[in-house]
Amino acid sequence: MKTIGYAASSAVSPLAPFSFERRALRPNDVAMEVLYCGICHSDLHQARNDWGWSTYPIVPGHEIVGRVTAVGSGVTRHKVGDAVAVGCMVDSCMECDQCRKGEEQLCRRGNTQTYNGRDRITGEPTYGGYSKHLVVREEFTLSVPDGLDLARTAPLLCAGITTYSPLRTWNIGPGSRVGVLGLGGLGHMAVKLAVGLGADVTVLSRSADKQADALALGADRLLLSTDKAAMDKAASSMDLIIDTVPVKHDLNPYMPLLDIDGTLVIVGQIGPMAEQSTVPLLLGRRRVAGSPIGGIAETQEMLDFCARMKILPDCEMIRMDEIHHAFERMEKADVRYRFVIDMASLKAE
Ligand SMILES: [Zn+2]
Ligand SMILES: [Zn+2]
Repeated sequence: MKTIGYAASSAVSPLAPFSFERRALRPNDVAMEVLYCGICHSDLHQARNDWGWSTYPIVPGHEIVGRVTAVGSGVTRHKVGDAVAVGCMVDSCMECDQCRKGEEQLCRRGNTQTYNGRDRITGEPTYGGYSKHLVVREEFTLSVPDGLDLARTAPLLCAGITTYSPLRTWNIGPGSRVGVLGLGGLGHMAVKLAVGLGADVTVLSRSADKQADALALGADRLLLSTDKAAMDKAASSMDLIIDTVPVKHDLNPYMPLLDIDGTLVIVGQIGPMAEQSTVPLLLGRRRVAGSPIGGIAETQEMLDFCARMKILPDCEMIRMDEIHHAFERMEKADVRYRFVIDMASLKAE
């Protein structure tokens, strides 16, 4: 199937219109028209090869919402016309202990990334959601529950599951005390989801300007990390801190905020960390952990939870040809809180 998208042809070339083929349907494949695609920080990093593993041309996009246009002969979970979604991965081995547990994101043989990956059968590059059409095996195609606004659902597929999964892993619920570090695309979702799960939520920020936003998102308070007295007073007051800051930073000021056995979980790829003192780790049996997206079953659970609780990201809609401007603004953290591309704006030339 011929389709069009936006691709970067090298680390230094801007995204531009790109014609390519989507594969013919395999028996377990779902074909969809892409309606909306969220813009993730990692799209920018991978388009520019910041992490050193990009292959070109690259068609970014892994926060995808679409409508089914055709299904393979063996597909049972989805039918033509259904609203569906695809996140950061499109395949895994489906055989290892992690895949069998529904933790495909931790597949022993590595999951297949939605873009900048390799198809497990043909070895061809995978191309993401900055495109008109997509073909994905049914096991990695999620159902969008009724009642969710399709445009605003897109960012749930990366920003949503990346923050929901650690909240579930650390059993956050009523009575839990959660800190959220960084109030961007991921951070604002962490606040909404933690509030939805019934937790007491504190936004940690260097800027008092964020106070009104934090409260509007549902947080119980903002803790100014530059206010030494307030930070001291908040010692041992949190069970989990979700760290969404997308650049290298010092964790040391935040560790004393954790109660005994508390965990600071990092959800962004930021390279080497600043030097870490072991004292707060030992004294409070505290932990620093990492967490990547979530499994397919958990992603579906998150979508169903968001539909039930009416939780959606705050989005700014853009046209496909506004992508350069969106990347520039994202680099300056000038977005509240996630850009979403309206794919109807991408027309064949
Ligand atoms: Zn992402
Ligand atoms: Zn596996």
